[in-house]
Amino acid sequence: MDRKKYSEISKFIIIALGLSVISLALLTLPAESFSWSYIWGYILILAFSVLITPRTSLTLPHSNLTFSFSESIIFLTFLLYGGKLAILTAFVESVANCIYLKNRSVVKGRWIVLFNSSAVSLITALSYLVVYVCSIFFEIDPNPTNTRSLIAILGILAITQFVGSSAFATFYHKVKTGGEIWEFWKKQCLSSSLTQFTGVCLTGIVYKLYSYSDPLVIGIAAVCLVLVYFSYRQSVNDVSKAISQAEAAEREKAETERERRREAERYASDLSLTLEKEEQANEALRKSEKDLQHAALFDSLTNLPNRKHFGDMLRALIDKYKDDPSATFHVLFLDIRKFKNINDSLGHTLGDKVLMVAAKRFVRMLNSTDMVARIGGDEFAVILKNIKTAGKAQKVARRIFDNIAQPFSLSSNRISISVNIGIAPCDTEYNTPEEVLRDADIAMHYAKEKNSGVAVFTKDLRERFLERVHFENDLRSAVERNEFSMHYQPLISLQDGSLMGVEALLRWNHGELGNIPPNKFIPIAEESGLIIPITVWILRETTNQLARWQKISQEYKDLVVSVNISGKHLSNDDLLDDVENALAVSKISPETLKLEITESAAMENAEHTINMLNRLKQLGVQLSIDDFGTGYSSLSYLHRLPFDTLKIDRSFVCNVGENGEDSEILQTIISLAKNLKKKVIAEGIETRSQLALLKNLGCDYGQGYLMSRPQTVENLEMALYEHKNWLAEPITEPGLAVPSTADKSRQSLGVLLSK
Ligand code: C2E
Ligand code: MG
Ligand code: MG
Repeated sequence: MDRKKYSEISKFIIIALGLSVISLALLTLPAESFSWSYIWGYILILAFSVLITPRTSLTLPHSNLTFSFSESIIFLTFLLYGGKLAILTAFVESVANCIYLKNRSVVKGRWIVLFNSSAVSLITALSYLVVYVCSIFFEIDPNPTNTRSLIAILGILAITQFVGSSAFATFYHKVKTGGEIWEFWKKQCLSSSLTQFTGVCLTGIVYKLYSYSDPLVIGIAAVCLVLVYFSYRQSVNDVSKAISQAEAAEREKAETERERRREAERYASDLSLTLEKEEQANEALRKSEKDLQHAALFDSLTNLPNRKHFGDMLRALIDKYKDDPSATFHVLFLDIRKFKNINDSLGHTLGDKVLMVAAKRFVRMLNSTDMVARIGGDEFAVILKNIKTAGKAQKVARRIFDNIAQPFSLSSNRISISVNIGIAPCDTEYNTPEEVLRDADIAMHYAKEKNSGVAVFTKDLRERFLERVHFENDLRSAVERNEFSMHYQPLISLQDGSLMGVEALLRWNHGELGNIPPNKFIPIAEESGLIIPITVWILRETTNQLARWQKISQEYKDLVVSVNISGKHLSNDDLLDDVENALAVSKISPETLKLEITESAAMENAEHTINMLNRLKQLGVQLSIDDFGTGYSSLSYLHRLPFDTLKIDRSFVCNVGENGEDSEILQTIISLAKNLKKKVIAEGIETRSQLALLKNLGCDYGQGYLMSRPQTVENLEMALYEHKNWLAEPITEPGLAVPSTADKSRQSLGVLLSK
């Protein structure tokens, strides 16, 4: 059985016992107790205990001490009317008191009124029993007539009441809560002894006064008691009020303190939140700073160091080398050959992947102490440390050159790339990374020009380079300086000697160097991209010229001008606009403009060429494949190229002997063109036997010194007016010396510039 049940049971036992004791007391009351003369005083006491006692109890603030008239009333009843009515008084007073307290919510519980009243009745009954027993054994008069027996009776009552009530409270506490008995008794019961003794004293005084039976004394004493009570009550109230105020102030202070603490906690938590946020922001900042730093120093595509990072490293090495000549290094400049073609033919996405493959291969081929960086679109640079000689650096470069050429597959495309590598060995002359890279770049260009793959920088190369830079600058300003002019070489029908058209050939009369042959400046113009604006000028110049010539006579109304177009221009979409503009300005019929594209330029990126030529064809112009036989044509592409004429390279013409020896290739090319339903032009006809042979082989047109060298505008115009017969006798080209083919190919830029 649990504790709750025990306490419930004991509660009902006490109620039952209490009610039984009261019933017993009532039933055994002597008959005279019910006479009016006897009972009126008792009724007064009962009225006092019901109406006054509950309202007059005073509890000392901050203590368990309660001053009430309860005990005094019970004791007084005991002295005046005996134990049985005292039990009844205890019951009635307790009921009134409990109801009064319950209404004020001081005490709670369903049975509390009955339970408390029964308990008080039982304790009073116990006191009655003890007094009764004592009166037998110690001959004490229960109705005391002298002070001695009054003190004895009251003492017994007080002690019994105290012991009974504290034993009862302790017992019930134990049953209900199972708590510590001694502690409870000390805390709750000991102090109640004072209540008992105050009650005893008060009872003694009242009883004594009553025994005098002097109404004046009683009256004065009653007034004094009332005054004492009220002044005491007032002072208790004041104390309570002061304590309440102090408590309120204390509470307020505590509340303020608590609020302050809460605020501090709130502030602390806000602060920690802010700090946390700040930390997060700092972290994000640190990360973005790191990312930014990484982005500033590394290439996003290949994740290799970028130009800046490379420059920083190189600068440190240059400085170190100045202090310590044993700290040698070599810089390699790597350029992927024809990377533009990869981009154009495979697209930029695959182009990027090719760069990533190349980057990985470079890293794999180098030591961890070396550094490879991407310094431009298809340009990479390497720092080789701990390499003492240029020869050793060359070996490393050669290894890279060989390895990078290994073919690989990307999205089912078989790709193979190659690089040109320039090497710049360390030198105390260098002050900045740019200087080293510039020289490695010069060496790379030399390797490219010589098709050697790898080249080491020398001071001679720098001079060559500078000359070339000058040359390029001169070329750039040649148009403005009016140094360019067009010469025109006739294209003759081999069947009847009529003039089919002219090939426009560019001439450069350099201010200081004089006439520079096209095979010297055209490659430089192509490489530098200058060929595009120059060709725009040529297109305009030649079409306008043709327009004038076509008007000379009816015979020339279909005269054609052939303009050479470089591979670089062909891969540029602007070419369409350039041609269209020239046609629009000159107003010549589009089919009288022929564009010559060399076989090698056409085959470089065949798919793109086919697309571009088709678009050009839509403009109505004619197309010709130049220098045919030198460019490794793929037959599958050849038949898809929408050209009109095929121009046999002059090497095939000049190789034919006086008696028609070695003419098989010429024969093959001509029959190939015939099969493809194209017209054939042979260039470089220098002898009558060559002319006769080509005519016999069925070649449609011819161009060569035999008929005419390239002519100035004036000379050609004169010939047009004269209606010259081109197959009769050759005329010479003014301005240029007439080197043979072999002589011309021997001329180099260096020789040319040193003139
Ligand atoms: P090409 O387009 O094949 O031009 C024909 C070249 O052969 C011309 O040389 C011409 O003078 C030369 N030639 C013609 N008949 C004979 C001959 O019987 N014997 C010899 N030995 N040579 C003959 P040129 O004018 O020196 O031009 C050389 C190349 O320069 C041209 O070859 C062409 O590829 C390029 N070129 C010339 N002018 C231009 C131009 O305006 N634009 C472009 N893109 N390239 C041009
Ligand atoms: Mg040509
Ligand atoms: Mg040619």
